[in-house]
This record gives sequence, C-alpha cells and structure tokens, in this order.
Amino acid sequence: MELRNKVIGIIGYSRTGRATAEFVKSRGGKVKISELSGSEELRKELEAKEFDFELGKNSFEFLKDCDFIIISPGVPSETPFVLELENKGKRVISEIEFASKFIKGKIIGITGSNGKSTVTSMIYHILKEAGEKVTIAGNIGVPLINFVEEKSDYFVVELSSFQLEKIVDFKPFISVLLNITPDHLDRYKRFEDYAEAKFNLFKNQKSSDFAVLNKDDDYIEKNKNRISASKIFFSINDKKADVYFDKEMVFFKDEPIIKSDEIPLLGIHNIENTMASVAVAKVIGLKNKIIKETIKSFKGLEHRTELCGEIDGVKFINDSKATNIDATYKALLSFDSPLILILGGKDKGGDFTKLNELIKNKVKKLILIGAAREKIKKQLSKDIDYIEVESMKEAVYKGFDFAEKGDIVLLSPACASFDMYENFEKRGEDFKRIVKGLMEERSNG
Ligand code: ADP
Repeated sequence: MELRNKVIGIIGYSRTGRATAEFVKSRGGKVKISELSGSEELRKELEAKEFDFELGKNSFEFLKDCDFIIISPGVPSETPFVLELENKGKRVISEIEFASKFIKGKIIGITGSNGKSTVTSMIYHILKEAGEKVTIAGNIGVPLINFVEEKSDYFVVELSSFQLEKIVDFKPFISVLLNITPDHLDRYKRFEDYAEAKFNLFKNQKSSDFAVLNKDDDYIEKNKNRISASKIFFSINDKKADVYFDKEMVFFKDEPIIKSDEIPLLGIHNIENTMASVAVAKVIGLKNKIIKETIKSFKGLEHRTELCGEIDGVKFINDSKATNIDATYKALLSFDSPLILILGGKDKGGDFTKLNELIKNKVKKLILIGAAREKIKKQLSKDIDYIEVESMKEAVYKGFDFAEKGDIVLLSPACASFDMYENFEKRGEDFKRIVKGLMEERSNG
C-alpha cells in the first residue's frame, strides 16, 4: 500500500496510535490525530512531532479530508463518532488490518475471551525454541505495526475482539479461537455482537488456511460451518476431537504428545491452552518430541494462576488477570485444596451467580473486595459465608488467618481492577508484595 501523499486519520493516541502515526510518517503519509484526552504534555509531544491534531474532542470536520482512518484498539467501533464517520462515507479500519498489509510472513492470530496471552506466548516459545523465525506481537505488548520491516516466517499475534471489529481483508494463515464466554458486556450491547467480532478472525480464510477451535464451546460448535479454513478441533471432554485428553495425556490424532504433569502451568484451562498450541505446532510441521520438550520449558505468565508464595503450608496464588467470571470459574475448577477466595473489583457486567456452585463446593471462606461487592452480595447464594475488606492488605492477612496447612489463598477477582488500581498488573504486584511482606514477618518471628 502506497502511503506517500495520503492523508491518514488516527483516532486515539495511545501505544498503538503512536506507533501507527510514526509508521505513516516514515512512509511519507500525512498524519491527523484525533484524541479525546486533552493533556498539555500530549499537546507538546504532538507539536514536537509536527503531527496535525485535535485534542479533547473528535470531530468529523477535522478528519473529513482523510483518505482513510485507523481506529486504536481502545476506541469502541460503535461510538457515535465512528458511526458518523462511516455514515458520511469515510473508511475506518483497525490497526491490525492496516499493519497486516505490510507484514511479510504468515500470521498466526489468536483470540478468545480467556487464554489469549498465555497461548500467544506458548506458541511463540514453541516455535522459537524449535528454531523457527518468529515474532510475537499485538495485544500482548508491541503493536503489529512495529514489525513491518521484520523478516520473520511467522508472526504470532494476540487479537482482542476490539481489534477484530474493523476487519476488511485481514487473513491469518492459522487462526486460533480459544473460547467465547461473556466478557466486556459493559462495552457490547449483546453477547452475539461480542462473539461475532471474534468470528471476524475467519472472515477471509480459505481452505488452504487453518482454524484451531475449541470443540467444547457452544457458540463455536453452533457456528463452525461458517468457517472455510481447514478445522482442527481440540477438546478436554471429547476423545473424538483432533487434539484430545485421555488418561492424563494430550493426544494429537492418536499420537501421544505430553502428559498433564509435564505441562508447567497450573489448571485445567492450561491443558486446553496447551492443546491449542499443540495443534498450531503440528500444522507447522514440528516433531512430537520437540513439541513436548518446548512446552516443558515454557515458564507461563505472571498474574495467571501464578504460585507466588507459601507460608506454613498455605499457598498463595495470584490470578489477578482473571478479570471476568469464566477465568475465575476455571481457576476454581483447577484446585482441589480448600480455597480462600479474594473476589471483587470493578464489575464488567458479568453474572456472578455462575460461581455459586463452585464457591459452595471449594471455597471455605470468601473475601469480597472493591466496588463490585454490593452486586456480588446480591448474586451470592444465601448459604455462602463471606467477609468484606477495605484493602488488599486486609484481604491477604485475613485470608491467611482463615487458612490451615494445605489450603490455598487465591486472588481471582472476576472483575477489572480499575476501582483500586491502574491495571491488573498493579493489582497482582500489590498482592505479591503483601504476601512477600507477610512471609518475611513470619520468618522473622
Ligand atoms: P487473555 O489474554 O485472553 O486475557 P490470559 O492468558 O492473560 O488471557 O489469561 C487471563 C485469565 O484467564 C487468567 O486468569 C488465566 O488464568 C485465565 N485463563 C487462561 N487460559 C484460559 C482458558 N483457556 N479458559 C479460561 N480461562 C483461562
């Protein structure tokens, strides 16, 4: 795509918007940035870079002479401003769509409600350790647009449903859809809208491409016939799937690949994540022995069912990344020891009643924290015992008081973190810092 002398609008100037603007400029295009935040610091930065911009508002007037407009992943595509642009004939695309026009190499695109970062990192690790030329990009850290000059054979790209909303020609060689469970219902009006954004991943795939799909997911099962790519199903329950789990072993079409106790990550959901990664590795043609060895050396990611301390036989697990109900559901399913669960934060419109059964069976004390407390209390079964706390420190200390040897204190909030923290990483770090402090106190006396 030729950018010289083109006028390109960018809505939202965060990490992705910034990278996109730099790229357009480097290819001789004219950049126009429309950003709702109006800080002085940003004004200075944009002036120094000599970009054309409007701050504190989004106006059609400002972008009306653009050839096309790129929307940052944080900006909902249904906002009245984006709809106005489209109604008035402007083409609005996502950064992923834009970047993919320049990327040389095959794209492995991963999406789902939960597990995206884990699977993206696991696939990247397997391919890299197997000696492939591979780059990791997207939602997980560095935007895809930063890698247009990269000479990799494979680009492993984490994709959120927001990024998939404005897809026109984007076509992965392998697409992976892990699961579709309610999340971000604060942003999407209906579950179907959210699910459909994820299905955009397959929109341009042909039969020579591949789709790795979760057979246990209802929405995927119901809609699988709309996918033209060659389908590879994985399932934790169904032994007829291409990748299946039997007698503690992951199989690919009846070839044993890896035993569950050789997978270095905790929980049933990580067996599913491993199965999806195995499917990708097999499409690429890696040998079973290499797949097994590279999975064994994968370290896992911080803040995802991460064991972060042990005091007097009580384990502490940081699952701060569990920002929706299903992630917490999977964490509860994964542990057999009695749990002390720290739950709550900023509600994202989920249904907490889905946790009632597992909480009753597995949680010996529930600790509620954060802004969602009132809603959670209303949705809890009457027979569930809980306490409320005002701070993470109080949650950790009280959690430890309730625990006995062999128990687990689990932070798996089922909510976003923004009521108390800048992001889920900060929340997880705070939890770990407090656990560490408690460990030191205990060992000192
Ligand atoms: P994402 O990038 O989609 O948010 P992560 O890998 O960061 O996914 O994990 C997010 C949360 O979901 C963590 O709490 C993690 O333990 C949980 N999780 C990971 N994989 C799965 C899965 N396949 N199904 C359900 N929950 C999962």
